[in-house]
Amino acid sequence: MARVVVIGAGLGGLAAAARLAAGGHEVTVLEQAPQIGGKLGWYARDGHGFDTGPSLITLPQVFEDLFAATGDPLSTVLPLRRLDPAVAYRFADGTTTAVPGHREAIAARLDADLGPGSGAQWTALLTRAEAMWRATEQPFLRSPLAGAMTLARLARNTADLRTIAPGRTLRGLGRHHLTDPRLRMLLDRYATYSGSDPRLAPAALLTVPYAEQAFGSWYVPGGLRRLPEAVADRAVERGAVLRTEAEVAEVLVEGGRVTGVRLADGEVLRADVVVCNADATTLYRRLLPAQAPARGPRAALRRVTPSSSGFVLLLALRGRTPGLAHHTVLFPADHTAEFDALFGGRGRRGNDPKRPVADPTVYISAPDDPATRPDDDSESWFVLVNAPRHEPGSGVDWTADGRAEAYADLVLARMAARGLDVRDRVRWRVVRTPADLERETASPGGSIYGTSSNGARAAFLRPANASPVPGLFLVGGSAHPGGGLPLVTLSAEIVAGLIGPA
Ligand SMILES: Cc1cc2nc3c(=O)[nH]c(=O)nc-3n(C[C@H](O)[C@H](O)[C@H](O)COP(=O)(O)OP(=O)(O)OC[C@H]3O[C@@H](n4cnc5c(N)ncnc54)[C@H](O)[C@@H]3O)c2cc1C
Repeated sequence: MARVVVIGAGLGGLAAAARLAAGGHEVTVLEQAPQIGGKLGWYARDGHGFDTGPSLITLPQVFEDLFAATGDPLSTVLPLRRLDPAVAYRFADGTTTAVPGHREAIAARLDADLGPGSGAQWTALLTRAEAMWRATEQPFLRSPLAGAMTLARLARNTADLRTIAPGRTLRGLGRHHLTDPRLRMLLDRYATYSGSDPRLAPAALLTVPYAEQAFGSWYVPGGLRRLPEAVADRAVERGAVLRTEAEVAEVLVEGGRVTGVRLADGEVLRADVVVCNADATTLYRRLLPAQAPARGPRAALRRVTPSSSGFVLLLALRGRTPGLAHHTVLFPADHTAEFDALFGGRGRRGNDPKRPVADPTVYISAPDDPATRPDDDSESWFVLVNAPRHEPGSGVDWTADGRAEAYADLVLARMAARGLDVRDRVRWRVVRTPADLERETASPGGSIYGTSSNGARAAFLRPANASPVPGLFLVGGSAHPGGGLPLVTLSAEIVAGLIGPA
């Protein structure tokens, strides 16, 4: 049995704690915030309740695996609800389509809404995506990152390598298969699931729409925040100890291996193993002593682009919106301008500064769930637009006077121009900027997903789950295999596998 300290009670940290405690280790989770869950936040007031982070669960099998491996199955602890339609899209030219929640129904819907032939184009693309999924799920998503070994695993045969199309971008592959600009927009959007630019992100991100459409989009009745709560309960049932308001200031390394952590108040906890769920940049730049043997990951982190962030509006609304889907996406006329603003400049070589997007894609999540509203004549909307990180000095300062409220007004005006004007129904609103996300979850700049997937090598430069310091492991969205709820949960599975049972 090892003494394990987990730094951070985000979903990845909690899932690792549950698995390691179930494996017989003595586990303590230290969370700097007053509550657990990290980016899976919750805001409640006057009977309105909002998830402040994720609104969509994909790859439910990953969560089923976690619960089955540690005790009672997910279905008895936290039944998920499959969404159908998955997402309603509204394009700038006024066309709308509600993409069904079951794959078999998607092609006919696209044909009916976007014109004959759209369904066949999308299906051809997703067939390619399915082959990519088969080639990458086990050797990449479910295995530790191991430098050249990982590439070798991926390239078991040249057909697999061709399928992954390593030299191509998501947009490039989309352009090849899709002629309708609305379908192209729909595909580009999936780059933002990892805070990336479709012009730079690899074609392998095609596996994201595949996973969503093949395995469904899911919701947790009562709010997604119930997921980290259930995982925390599971960890505690299996013997883990959770401590909040316990900020780790330093990872202790002696004789070349990890020996514990020092908290901000000076308390020292000795450990044989430390699992870090704090952002990898924070670990390698701040928590680990400068002389720790971590040159490789520090250098790799200098070569990657951090993921973009998000600007969130929580809207407590009077009345109900007829025909409103659980998820709605309002596209702008110029999607490319959005990526220029988020990442700065045009394409690869531009030098324009990063800036808030003038005409952003607007993502609305409005669960039809009594747990989120005071009565049946109210709605609670979570509105998200992609936003550049909080980088006072070198980029956008989201705390600048009046900036957040003015931008919130702009987002509401854009929604109105695209057919969803709720301005006279707002009881109150809460504005949450990338600076708030940074403050609350200790995510540098408010990056949503750690590092982005921009660049062909980004996936291989992401920090590995086993650090070069013996006994120190990384879990969560800033480590392999990446951000998003299913991937951070997979990272916990990988870390538990690397550490092994007691
Ligand atoms: C607005 C928004 C929308 C999103 N939408 C989706 C979605 O729809 N679907 C999806 O799958 N994903 C979505 N995501 C991404 C998803 O939320 C994250 O990938 C995931 O929750 C990250 O989990 P994590 O394990 O990396 O930990 P995090 O949630 O990043 O938590 C890390 C924890 O570590 C703690 N910590 C940091 N430093 C220290 C320290 N020194 N000492 C102690 N504790 C520390 C932090 O306080 C935090 O609680 C969204 C995120 C945001 C912000």
